[in-house]
This record gives sequence, structure tokens and C-alpha cells, in this order.
Amino acid sequence: MHNPAEFIREELKARKWVHVNHPTAYGVSCDKCGGVNIDWSEFEHMIWCYDCKVDTPGNPGVFGGPIPINTAGLLGMSFDRLNLKTGEIEHGV
Ligand SMILES: [Zn+2]
Repeated sequence: MHNPAEFIREELKARKWVHVNHPTAYGVSCDKCGGVNIDWSEFEHMIWCYDCKVDTPGNPGVFGGPIPINTAGLLGMSFDRLNLKTGEIEHGV
């Protein structure tokens, strides 16, 4: 049996990297209040909302389409990542 508490811990994995750009650069916003007073959460696939004071998945912005990530790259959108372990920039996607 899968312990639900364990499952949540797995879901909230600490990030190993963050996108160099702010979440709003990708059209991401808070899914709770719709606001953009946000930043990347310390957890993977999550954002932090300063207004709601929660880690939340957020609205996906470009990550949920309709613009494919490759096309977004062609539009000059950067998906470079900052590796939190090494402090080095990695070129994403
Ligand atoms: Zn919010």
C-alpha cells in the first residue's frame, strides 16, 4: 500500500533547477487568485504565490500549450535553467 503522506512527499520534490526567467515570462500565473505576484516554488512543478502564501501548481502558461515549447523557443523565449546544485546555467529543452 502506498502511504498518502509518502506520496505527497514524492510529489513535492525539491527542485534541482529553476528556469532562469521569472514564471510570468512563460505566462504562468497563480491558479488560486489569478495573480502574478509569484515566483518559482522550491518544489518541482510548483510556483509560490506571495498573495496566497501557498505552493501551488499554477496556471501552466506556455507549458500547457497552445504554443509548443519548440515554437516558444523560436520566439526568443529562453528555457535556460539554473542548476541549484552547481550554480551553472544549463540550456533547457
Ligand atoms: Zn495567488
